[in-house]
Amino acid sequence: MKGAKRIRDDFVQSVKLILAKRVNFRCSICDVQTTGPKTGTSNKDFSIGKAAHIKAAAPGGPRYDPNQSPEKRASIENGLWACATCADIIDRDADAYSVEELLRLKHEAEQLARDRVGRNPETALQTQSEIRRAINVFCRREAARQERLDPRFKVAVHMGESGTIYEISAKEPVETRLVIGTQGKESEFLALHDFFDYGGNHVSDSVDIRMEGSPLFPSENIKRFRLSTQPRSVTITAILNEETTTPLFVEFTGNATQGSKGFRFKGSAFDGMMTAITTADYDGGRPDFAFTFNLEGWAKKPAKRLPYFARLQQIMQSLASPVQIRIQCTHNGIELDVGKGFVDGGEHFRFLRIFLNEIDELRQLDDFFGLDLTLPTDLTDVIRDRGDISELLAMVNIDKSGEREIRLRMISIDSEEQLKTMIANQAAVDIRINYQLNLSILGKNYGPFDVDVICPAATVHSVGPSLIEAGKPANLAMIAADGHHWIAQVVNAKEHSKRRSNS
Ligand SMILES: [Zn+2]
Repeated sequence: MKGAKRIRDDFVQSVKLILAKRVNFRCSICDVQTTGPKTGTSNKDFSIGKAAHIKAAAPGGPRYDPNQSPEKRASIENGLWACATCADIIDRDADAYSVEELLRLKHEAEQLARDRVGRNPETALQTQSEIRRAINVFCRREAARQERLDPRFKVAVHMGESGTIYEISAKEPVETRLVIGTQGKESEFLALHDFFDYGGNHVSDSVDIRMEGSPLFPSENIKRFRLSTQPRSVTITAILNEETTTPLFVEFTGNATQGSKGFRFKGSAFDGMMTAITTADYDGGRPDFAFTFNLEGWAKKPAKRLPYFARLQQIMQSLASPVQIRIQCTHNGIELDVGKGFVDGGEHFRFLRIFLNEIDELRQLDDFFGLDLTLPTDLTDVIRDRGDISELLAMVNIDKSGEREIRLRMISIDSEEQLKTMIANQAAVDIRINYQLNLSILGKNYGPFDVDVICPAATVHSVGPSLIEAGKPANLAMIAADGHHWIAQVVNAKEHSKRRSNS
């Protein structure tokens, strides 16, 4: 009909025949044979095969491509040989059968047909890849067969180590019944209850469970049974100490599952260094909230550049005693209050709190002495090998501590007259105490360092009934005058780091 408006770009007969022959008249999706002799005849055949369009033949059809030319649309490249059922399924479930997926299936079916040419079917499976391909074909055929039993479900079939795995998901709300036999264990029953209350994943092995409501559900014993609900991506904000002047906001991103009673969330913050699991009821009941920390990411990192150190230490400190927590949930831009509760990490995080304090102290030393410390591969070494540094830290932080008095024992005195005058007069003078230090931290030696502890105005006192005599030891206390304080500084820090970078 010249001039008539062409609506469909159908395949011509010769294209259909070549498509069919290229896969030996087998369905490219499920591998069934599509032709046979017509019963009661000696010269006729029948076919359940169809030349299906990969990109639809007409606008509005599945995978239709408006930019495709009519010639290309009707060409053999745009076709795929399939049985009537599969041809129907790939069009009705176009999301599951993309253009790429269909091209892959077509290619695979043609390869299989090529391998089978001239081969006895019994000896056809010889190589690993042939076996793998045959299994894939079986799984696909089985999935298609199952879906035909109940089109309300999408079925995926896999070959597992202990047998065939059927993954059945409802395309629409479907009413089903789960029957638990009397052989079921109490713990199993509770776990199932929990699944229905809050969703998630539930796996049972050798269970006394049966499902009713679809011909898809097996009636015989199931070896392994897994139920799961669709997770949704959700952001949860945990607000600690909300009613104080320093509330802490921690945002977790992750997935939530829902059940009939409430939902369960698992998500992480600070690039996975902190994880939260929470279960909350829809009625706003007291939520259950649990944190875990994974600080492994700090291994082998420079002490001065530990990701999220300050934030995590802040959180850890506020968890040292029972703390109020409010949980807010954001999903699709909607904010929802999940509930309020208390978390008490006092005992639970004791070790982690000690660990963070140790690292904090190492960082202070690192900063003060310019050590460029790197944390060890095994972070537990931090607590084991850092040595006793509390006295050192007290000196380093003497300005922050506000300590006004320094006590020291002088081994020998050179100018006893001058010292005697200072003690007798009690006049505030400029005092500088010099220490020579060698440090050993995390198995490495640093130093020597010259550290000065300085106060511009301090008085000197004799401690105990000691006499100030040349060449004799003396116990002294040096006290900062009112309005003054001590500071500590490394005299040779620059020289020291220069020396190290040269070596
Ligand atoms: Zn088929």
